[in-house]
Amino acid sequence: MTLDAREDAWRHVGSRDPAGGTGEVRRATCCVIGCGPAGAVVGLMLAREGVDVLVLEKHADFLRDFRGDTLHPSTMEIMDELGLADGLLRLRHAKAPRVRARLPGRTITVADFGHLKTRHPYITFMPQWDFLDFVTKEAGRYPNFRLEMNAEARELIQEDGVVRGVRYETPDGSREVRALLTIAADGRSSPFRRQAGLKVVSTSPPIDVLWFRFSRREGDPEDTFGYAGDGRFMAFINRSDYWQVAYVIPKGADRRVRAAGLEAFRRSIGEAVPELADRTEELREWEAVKLLSVQADRLRRWYRPGLLCIGDAAHAMSPVGGVGINLAVADAVAAANALAGPLKAGRVRSRDLAAVQLRRELPTRAIQALQSFAQRRVVASSLRPGGAPSLPAPARALLRLRPVRDLPARIIAFGIWPVHVGRRAPLASAGGTPTERKETTR
Ligand SMILES: Cc1cc2nc3c(=O)[nH]c(=O)nc-3n(C[C@H](O)[C@H](O)[C@H](O)COP(=O)(O)OP(=O)(O)OC[C@H]3O[C@@H](n4cnc5c(N)ncnc54)[C@H](O)[C@@H]3O)c2cc1C
Repeated sequence: MTLDAREDAWRHVGSRDPAGGTGEVRRATCCVIGCGPAGAVVGLMLAREGVDVLVLEKHADFLRDFRGDTLHPSTMEIMDELGLADGLLRLRHAKAPRVRARLPGRTITVADFGHLKTRHPYITFMPQWDFLDFVTKEAGRYPNFRLEMNAEARELIQEDGVVRGVRYETPDGSREVRALLTIAADGRSSPFRRQAGLKVVSTSPPIDVLWFRFSRREGDPEDTFGYAGDGRFMAFINRSDYWQVAYVIPKGADRRVRAAGLEAFRRSIGEAVPELADRTEELREWEAVKLLSVQADRLRRWYRPGLLCIGDAAHAMSPVGGVGINLAVADAVAAANALAGPLKAGRVRSRDLAAVQLRRELPTRAIQALQSFAQRRVVASSLRPGGAPSLPAPARALLRLRPVRDLPARIIAFGIWPVHVGRRAPLASAGGTPTERKETTR
């Protein structure tokens, strides 16, 4: 990789591209494809370290409903280390200090975060678009951070086996960015993994999820909780003024559930959680119920010369445990820690990229294995007619011990082998007041 993007970083050439095309050519030391949690955080952290970053986001804004909205203690600690947690918590949010599950005839505490040694012993529920707006505004304080909205990356630029950037589309036409390193943070359907010849290992989770919302009313339960049993598995997430509901179904059962009719669906929810039965009337049409086809996979290798995949692009996560955002943020921090130095030096070697995978692969695979276990033993077994969550007898015995009982809370809160921000640069270096440099093409 010899492209020295530092020489003419941000040169914005409205002329012919070197490959003979006619699109505009931009240059950046690092180009990030996708501004989800992984892309936004790696962009912020690299900019904070003085690296020229261009983040491309295909949508015009971050307003997408039913995305992961849970910030776990691991992510809040990272925000603390960046000096941003207090600002983030000034935004509208809800806190869940524990997660409970109702089973037929009894309620159990699945995870109690109150025992954890952390400044943030709770899950923070915040709309993902607010989190992304906040992070990109903070990143915009650095003059070397750029975010181009309405910019859809289409094709990697590859020369002599090295990725040199990406061609992308805007409402004003085609462009390309040439970069020392391209980071694919474009989520679970990333086409760049295939373009780069990276192999995907897929698993088949036995579940899909239907998402919808009900209003919250005075007197409703405060806690976020789950219901498991009698062939049903649901999660009710307290989002202050509404409940976000996840109704888990066997893989591929969406058409069958819809064919049985909305009335049967409403009844099934009301029977499980009688105090919310009156709210089921709010579901007047199936359009209000969105299907999440649960998918889990991982790349064998997360990189090749000039390209690194992080977040869901490297490992699509099942929604079990609500950990996807937090793993994506951890990848971003690990990538920035490992790569800021090489990027500033103008030379990124494959072993620098391998270091990111080495730091993050084991924790990710361990969490995916735990999700797969929970899907089979807890979720799928609850979905069988008359079924209930089942754990092997030794696991039940172990869960009576306090340290073991706290493990689910620990793992949900911090994952495995948590990542921390490597270096600190004072925010003042960004130039005081926020000057967001968001380029929105229409
Ligand atoms: C319905 C649903 C519920 C979920 N619930 C939770 C939860 O409660 N908690 C949790 O932690 N996780 C949850 N997840 C998972 C979580 O949302 C993801 O794991 C997390 O967002 C991954 O972050 P990411 O940055 O890697 O990818 P994404 O969040 O997918 O972000 C990718 C970004 O790239 C952009 N993009 C895509 N293609 C291109 C392109 N070609 N050019 C430019 N930009 C592009 C997209 O618009 C998007 O903004 C949920 C996911 C879904 C779908």
